Amino acid sequence: MGYCRRMNESADKTEYRLQGIGCAPGVARGKAFVFLQKNVDLPCYKIDDVERETLRFDRAVAKTREQISTLIEEVSAQVGPANAEIFSAHLLVLDDPAVIDETKRAIQVSKLNAEHCVNSVTGRYIDFFSGMEDSYLKERVADIRDVAQRVLKNLLGEAQENSPERLRNRIVVAEELTPSETIAFDRSHVLAILTDTGNHTSHAAIIARSLGIPAIVGLRNATLRIAQDDEILVDGDKGLVYVNPSKKTLDVYEQISLRRSRLEALIAEESVKPDTTADGHFFRIEANVSGKENLETMRKMHIYDIGLFRSEGIFLRSDRFPSEEAQYEEYRQVVDALPKNSNIIIRTLDIGGDKHVSSALMPAEENPFMGFRAIRFCLEFRDIFKEQLRAILRTSTRGNVRILFPMISSLSELINAKEVLEEAKGELRRAGIPFDEDIPVGTMIEVPAAVAIAEDLASEADFFSIGTNDLTQYMLAVDRGNEKISHLYDSYHPAVIRAIAKTILAAHRAKIPCGICGEIAGDPAFAPLLIGLGADSLSMTANSAPRIRYILRHCALSDMQKLARQSVFDPNPRNIQERMTHFINAVLPTE
Ligand code: PEP
Ligand code: MG
Repeated sequence: MGYCRRMNESADKTEYRLQGIGCAPGVARGKAFVFLQKNVDLPCYKIDDVERETLRFDRAVAKTREQISTLIEEVSAQVGPANAEIFSAHLLVLDDPAVIDETKRAIQVSKLNAEHCVNSVTGRYIDFFSGMEDSYLKERVADIRDVAQRVLKNLLGEAQENSPERLRNRIVVAEELTPSETIAFDRSHVLAILTDTGNHTSHAAIIARSLGIPAIVGLRNATLRIAQDDEILVDGDKGLVYVNPSKKTLDVYEQISLRRSRLEALIAEESVKPDTTADGHFFRIEANVSGKENLETMRKMHIYDIGLFRSEGIFLRSDRFPSEEAQYEEYRQVVDALPKNSNIIIRTLDIGGDKHVSSALMPAEENPFMGFRAIRFCLEFRDIFKEQLRAILRTSTRGNVRILFPMISSLSELINAKEVLEEAKGELRRAGIPFDEDIPVGTMIEVPAAVAIAEDLASEADFFSIGTNDLTQYMLAVDRGNEKISHLYDSYHPAVIRAIAKTILAAHRAKIPCGICGEIAGDPAFAPLLIGLGADSLSMTANSAPRIRYILRHCALSDMQKLARQSVFDPNPRNIQERMTHFINAVLPTE
């Protein structure tokens, strides 16, 4: 949110490079737009008009009060009034004349801007309460901090909104981006995304990929080393950022871009050929989407089925849980927009982890990826879950809709989720609303426990979908969003490969299909292995499809099966990686 950055490195305009983790391909060139969220760099400046500044402060306080009151109403309605108490405490801070009057006095006396005064007054209160013995008073620190952040956000928002206009044709540089912030970007106004934190499969990275915006995460200190308006060149394939690129670098990249376009054109030429391997076996390519905004790309890429509809996209876009009606409308529009006979798998709510909804609806946790996420949340708040299930069921008369439960780690969770589904069906039946009585129900396999009991889960599920993003993180105990340990986040690890093989085998023994919907499904190196292991479908960001299709069409199934046999018992991840890379290099066009 603050915009004052260090100018030392860029002042002399010599080129320097930053290395991160390339997570969405492509080359982009433009000016940096740096914004910081965690450590708000507050502007501090003299003001001429005390009255106007006080009014600006009053407006920010009123807006904050309004936001908190709405939050209280929503939280009370959705998860009960007890959960809203914390926000009532926030309102008390706003109503405290000491804090408010003192801030106004500070504006008057110091003749400094409201942001600075809010920060210094609330800072004093925070220091004071932090030093208290009394735990109740100590807890007030969090309330004051939270309210102060909201007021500051409203003050800064007024002056420096990260509006589409400000971001137009800019390269966004941020400490971190939440999925909801990333969703708000669109290809037409953001040239590229760079973040200090994150990893290849963090959700913001996945969204950037689906938007087709070049992105690099895990740059560690890009927000400190890049200044506002710096000239930047981004290489999303290599994870490289050039600040103040030299003429030589620009020339090199012009050649790279040319070669890249020629290669893409070559691959695109084949995009309408049938999805069959070189030896004539059908393979199924599906799309991962988060809402109707992804359908256009899907159409362009000639993909007809949705293998993973991340329904939380709808929830992340707003500060509240959408009503059954609002959800139905979203799902209906997507189902209706698909060609006839298309399949769509709608995954039920998977919030938690790095997918934060408003902190009101889901309080922050110490260890969110291991915490109150996905099906765990839904089975606790059954009414919210049932609303979603009813909305999905109502669309099931309009197309081939399937339901997928995320983060299942025990048989009882799957059985309980199906019970809630039966309740939802009963309610619709009683209301005379039609739905598909035999709607297929699947389970994500993304937790090691689910792999271990895959045979049991297969007896209760109509299909499996392997979520390798989470499976890799939980299998290897490596946080998928943590750039410090990104070298340990390794889907080539034999444990991951064998878990996939075991899951597919269990599904096929139970005669149910098993697809892959994690990011590796759209990774050229992995796709042949996954098909060789027997995956029934690969669901991916639509933008990845042309390359994957090109590879699979030029490989024989028998060779992919051989690759799988060689890899599944190989104890060395680097051997596995090398073999897989070698395999695709033999089929990728060299231009
Ligand atoms: C996965 O974990 O692989 C997956 C597809 O789900 P998400 O990335 O939404 O957690
Ligand atoms: Mg997952």
